[in-house]
Amino acid sequence: MKILPLIRPFFWPADRADLRFKIVLGFVALFISKIVTMAVPYFFKFVTDELTTPNALAQTDWGAIMPALMLTPMALLAGYAIARFGQVLFAQIRDVYFAEAGLHALRAIAFQTFGHMHAMSMRFHLERRMGGLSRTIDRGVKAIDTLVRMAFANIVPTILELALMVVALAYSFDWRYIVVIMATVVMYIWYTLFASEKRIAIRKVMNESDSEANSKAMDSLINFETVKYFNNEVLEANRFDKAMGAYERASVKTYVSLGWLNSWQTLIFTIGLVLCMGMTIEGIHSGKNTVGDMVMMNALMIQLWFPLNFLGFFYRELKQSTVDLEEMVNLLHKEPEIQDATNAQVLQVNKGAVKFENVMFHYEINRPILKHVSFEIPAGKTLAVVGSSGAGKSTLSRIMFRFYDIAGGNVSIDGQYIQQVTQDSLRANIGIVPQDTVLFNDTIRYNIAYGRIGASDSEIERAAQLAQIDEFIKKLPDGYDTQVGERGLKLSGGEKQRVAIARTLLKNPRILILDEATSALDTNTEREIQSALKLISKDRTTLVIAHRLSTIIDADQILVLEKGEIIERGTHAQLIEKQGAYAQMWEHQQESQHDGSVLDMQS
Ligand code: ATP
Repeated sequence: MKILPLIRPFFWPADRADLRFKIVLGFVALFISKIVTMAVPYFFKFVTDELTTPNALAQTDWGAIMPALMLTPMALLAGYAIARFGQVLFAQIRDVYFAEAGLHALRAIAFQTFGHMHAMSMRFHLERRMGGLSRTIDRGVKAIDTLVRMAFANIVPTILELALMVVALAYSFDWRYIVVIMATVVMYIWYTLFASEKRIAIRKVMNESDSEANSKAMDSLINFETVKYFNNEVLEANRFDKAMGAYERASVKTYVSLGWLNSWQTLIFTIGLVLCMGMTIEGIHSGKNTVGDMVMMNALMIQLWFPLNFLGFFYRELKQSTVDLEEMVNLLHKEPEIQDATNAQVLQVNKGAVKFENVMFHYEINRPILKHVSFEIPAGKTLAVVGSSGAGKSTLSRIMFRFYDIAGGNVSIDGQYIQQVTQDSLRANIGIVPQDTVLFNDTIRYNIAYGRIGASDSEIERAAQLAQIDEFIKKLPDGYDTQVGERGLKLSGGEKQRVAIARTLLKNPRILILDEATSALDTNTEREIQSALKLISKDRTTLVIAHRLSTIIDADQILVLEKGEIIERGTHAQLIEKQGAYAQMWEHQQESQHDGSVLDMQS
């Protein structure tokens, strides 16, 4: 019930009249295929009747409505053949039409889910394993496919076939047959569902022991060295064998249960079949039925048997699909944590002055990260934040991007509170060169152009020149078309950072955040990156999150953040003069730098 309203618009797309028409055509084909299916046993009956009592068919109601040409056994046999072929042909036509509508629905659902995942906030993504999320979407979309194919290709046609069969039975036989067949079908379905439920539990044990055996084997092979160090080959083999033993027992159980299922199903069905045919034999004796009727009854029942035979399998799939789909539906129903305010305006940036007023923030309640943080970055100026690791420096940038909402105070840009402007316009005006740049597994060109989709090649190259990476790229055999590998791992840390600088240059934001890399770059690379960063922060409002104090001497203002509180503020000269925490950090860094250069010289 939770799933249906969600998927209905996808199967009856309001904006696609052509697909709605195809769904209707699919149902028409389905209906025709079932009518033709019913014709098969009838033709079988007619052939038999003509063979046992020649020329009798012409005297019956059926004979009266059939053309005279049809009334020979050979012509009836041809009718039988055409009906059999038509049965398959129309079922195929039905499948094609339904497949088109179904596949469109799958795409629409996948599109919506994918969009929804990107709309979700940072906390949501951090709390989930990426692989798990994509598996949920994958399984959910497949589940819809299974559900639809089963509903359209099995459940609906079988119900329709049963209904048509009741009409045929009422016409050619009598109510007793309807009662027997209905009772057989009900018993059959009840037993199948009951047994399948048990089989699902057995299969679960089987799957679990299978993955257990697999992970044991993997773990053992990965640690082959340790196994050898401790002479534990036999122990490992025995552990694996034990897990396989559990799998073996569970597998045997599934075969036994399948044996029982098939036997009971056949017994129930055969009882129904024998009862119906027995009644027909009695009807033949009393002259009410013909031999053809008995043949027809047999054919009708066997036709019904085919879809019923798959019921257990379909039931299991249906259950699995609902579980998978529910997981996806729950994901889709999750509201993004950060949403635009109802009257959110587009952020208008003139100069780009940033103001934090008495900001309070926590990721988790009970653990405050920022306490009463207030500062201003006047338009075009640079403010640097320093402080020990975990003090809350990077948190400032996440707040500016509004990845999280603050618990108290205000953050504004040119006098507009960031909670009252659209997230899109806010993020469009801020650029960041993050601490660790992660790149898309594509070309260097693609990764730079990501800063402004649609930028021309010359714009991309100009940005690369400014970021001082153009020369390096041009020396690569594939130049700008070089693949950077998974997460950009084929580039060094410094190269990745310069790609990030180039793409931020291309974005050309008024406000800039530079989160300095903590990883030690060599002195030359560091110097190059610094000059690139200086260039890009010129005339922009800039927040620098700094680890090396030497890089921020020129900043207009420096904040020292400790445990979420600003403990000192001023220019470099003022802070040195103050002889406080900053001056100490400065001294400390100067000393280690000196030691480093002495070591450099020695080596
Ligand atoms: P560094 O210099 O090491 O980058 P930082 O000053 O930038 O540190 P932040 O990244 O701002 O530190 O983190 C501040 C504190 O918030 C840290 O103690 C960190 O453990 C915590 N923290 C960061 N992100 C989350 C999160 N998503 N959920 C919970 N706690 C978090």
